[in-house]
Amino acid sequence: PKDGSDDHYSLMQWAARYYQQQLRQHSEKERVIQYLKGRGLDGETVQKFGIGFAPPGWDTLMGQKRGDNRAIHLLTECGMLIEKEGSNRKYDRFRDRLMFPILDRRGRVIAFGGRVLGEGTPKYLNSPETPIFHKSHELYGLYQVRQAHRSPERVLVVEGYMDVVALGQHGIDYAVASLGTSTTADHIQLLMRTAQSEVVCCYDGDRAGRDAAWRALETAMPLLKSGKALKFMFLPDGEDPDSLVQQEGKTAFEARIQAAMPLSDYLFGHLREQADLSSNEGKARFIAEIKPLIEQISDDVLQETLLQRLETELGWGARKHFAQPKRTVGQRP
Ligand code: ATP
Ligand code: MN
Ligand code: MN
Ligand code: MN
Repeated sequence: PKDGSDDHYSLMQWAARYYQQQLRQHSEKERVIQYLKGRGLDGETVQKFGIGFAPPGWDTLMGQKRGDNRAIHLLTECGMLIEKEGSNRKYDRFRDRLMFPILDRRGRVIAFGGRVLGEGTPKYLNSPETPIFHKSHELYGLYQVRQAHRSPERVLVVEGYMDVVALGQHGIDYAVASLGTSTTADHIQLLMRTAQSEVVCCYDGDRAGRDAAWRALETAMPLLKSGKALKFMFLPDGEDPDSLVQQEGKTAFEARIQAAMPLSDYLFGHLREQADLSSNEGKARFIAEIKPLIEQISDDVLQETLLQRLETELGWGARKHFAQPKRTVGQRP
């Protein structure tokens, strides 16, 4: 797609202000404020994340720009208006939703996530890919993390908007969300650059969350560097970071972060659950599973650490299935 222009950015900024203003002024604002209260968010947090309200109605946003054809055109390119198929009629994408602006690294509004107030489907509606929004490169909340810490020691990766916001409300101001999609290689590179010492993945305590954790591990393998840790937190069934921090508070939640599982423990633990190491078949299966993962690691030190652990856990001979580490190639005794 073509590049975005300053005009795209300024219209998105305008839309974010409009939604924030509606949260203060709209005749149905009480319903939204009750919803926010019910989710434990205070005004300061709402302000910090620029949360707003898209009013009900098919053209409340569009109506503000009636007659301004260029603005209507740009808002359509930004995904804020949808063109009705087979006609040139348009309507607002976001209606009667709580609005979370997504900011880029420079703090510019590039997209929105909108949540229904209460029950309804889809629960979240996100901006589509647009000239200024490339989902797989962006992390919700990263701008706010950077505002709070120039170079944070640790960054926590969660699934959802509400997780980032609720953690922020409780003083855990170093969380970002990967916007419902799985954590991509771009995300992991960006996270590894941002965090000084560790990135902690903390997905929901459900099937989808556990699958997302393993996928993140697989994606991260080629990108790992010794000196920067990737860790994993597993939450109790049915909980997510939002529900848990609301229940148990900052101190208890941070104790969980402290106790996060190092990548190597997760790697070996997860594979061991699927292979019985007391049998030769089990060992062979384990090696077949772990081999492609370890081979992807480009960092020699880290690769060697994992190979040594493999030997410790499976016994001597386990590593003969691997090519010699790259650095010894061409060396003579
Ligand atoms: P809440 O606490 O508000 O109910 P959640 O963040 O816990 O929401 P999940 O179902 O765990 O919701 O989803 C995590 C994230 O995945 C959401 O924050 C959102 O970014 C994305 N997501 C969830 N449902 C949808 C959907 N129907 N369409 C697009 N994205 C979605
Ligand atoms: Mn979930
Ligand atoms: Mn969730
Ligand atoms: Mn939730």
